[in-house]
Amino acid sequence: MQRPMSSTFASLSLSSPLQEVISEIGYASPTPIQLLSIPLLLAGKDLIAQSKTGSGKTVAFALPILQALVVDKRRLQALVVCPTRELAAQVAREIRKLGRKHKGLAVLEVVGGQPVRGQVDALQRGVHVAVGTPGRLLDHLERGTLHCETLTTVVLDEADRMLDMGFGADVESILRCLPKERQTVLFSATYPSTIESMSCRYQRNAERITIEEAEEETSALQQFYVECGKEDKLETLYWVMNKYPHESALIFCNFKASVSELQRELANAGFNVDRLDGDLEQFQRDQVLAKFRNQSLRVLIATDVAGRGIDVEDLELVVNYELPPQPNIYVHRIGRTARAGKAGVAVSLISSRERTKIQSIEAETGESVQAVQRDSASLVDVPALAREAKMQTILISGGRKDKVRPGDILGALTGEAGGLRGEDIGKIEIQARLSYVAVSRAVGKRAARGLGGGRIKGKRYRATLLR
Ligand code: ADP
Ligand code: MG
Repeated sequence: MQRPMSSTFASLSLSSPLQEVISEIGYASPTPIQLLSIPLLLAGKDLIAQSKTGSGKTVAFALPILQALVVDKRRLQALVVCPTRELAAQVAREIRKLGRKHKGLAVLEVVGGQPVRGQVDALQRGVHVAVGTPGRLLDHLERGTLHCETLTTVVLDEADRMLDMGFGADVESILRCLPKERQTVLFSATYPSTIESMSCRYQRNAERITIEEAEEETSALQQFYVECGKEDKLETLYWVMNKYPHESALIFCNFKASVSELQRELANAGFNVDRLDGDLEQFQRDQVLAKFRNQSLRVLIATDVAGRGIDVEDLELVVNYELPPQPNIYVHRIGRTARAGKAGVAVSLISSRERTKIQSIEAETGESVQAVQRDSASLVDVPALAREAKMQTILISGGRKDKVRPGDILGALTGEAGGLRGEDIGKIEIQARLSYVAVSRAVGKRAARGLGGGRIKGKRYRATLLR
């Protein structure tokens, strides 16, 4: 493949509003996948784009979607299909962020776990971009509440993962409902043969882009395994968490039951820990993820399905408390760390029988997973290890639809009622009807009282300090 001469956003023929947003956000230059796929997508080509997790694929398809939109026509023009609700939420957030100069832009999440009614209403009013999960999208297509006649582009994000999760048939049913004349785009972290066959059936003259991992990027993530027995597994986990310092750690288990059990153990030992599994209500999942993203939660334990699509900056440690059954799941798990070239560590706790699994993982990834020995003499002092999170999250009962913006919350916190200093305020995340703001633990109560008692843009909202 021929490489473009220049590697700046300015060289990509993006509209000036998009270029402005990019520089406001602070993206200095496009990532390789963005550099190669954006021109093809702008030209309307079908595409299979493959690059590893964390390489900026969302921006790669979001910008061309936004550039092609006719905002005056409040009709569905682009559809993004994602494997999980969390990922759909992230993608929708990213599209809104990049599209903030597109006045009147309507991006709708069409995911399960939310009432259908609200989605039907929003679809009736008209949206430009829908981002959804296969089941719920299909549901709307079958009810006749999602109209795709005007659609020009469909993106299957994490296509490999959707197939792994058994969404292949649903995704194909969705594709069959779409206009024949359309752009079909597959983004994927890996390239199994199932993707190839899907491409043959649903794409036309698809271009293919594969970004090989650069040496320096792979070296940012170190992979280890530790052998241990059932009886000293928990202690080995403590040892790992002590050996590899971290602000945030994500621990994977294969089953819901092991997630709950481990959460209980760690909580009893005094860790700042929560879990993410399929049993949680949507709002609970949202809260846990918001807390993990904004550093109000240090340790998160998840199953694969629930943990999919977690996008956390500065995640230093991923632990496979249980080794996944397949190497590609391992790849997805460890893709959560060492993003954007930052250093990270992935450690797998295995039984001696699982050594062959490590070998197949090495064969699949072409990267080495080194053995580390736990020296039995080193006793780990758990209380010292189980630190509080730096931040605490306040849930505010107003969001984007109430016209609440990050600046408004910041203003309320630093203004007379709140009196907080800027450095006590962390990430602010605005969702449709609610917002999350992280504040230093030391000022959490005061900040929540200030927000709840005061006004944001002249209106009163409830402010709840999350545990
Ligand atoms: P992928 O879908 O490939 O796993 P994401 O789209 O989730 O990756 O992007 C990973 C991170 O990289 C996000 O936090 C995103 O904001 C950031 N990012 C994307 N494009 C750029 C860029 N050009 N420069 C810097 N950071 C970027
Ligand atoms: Mg992605």
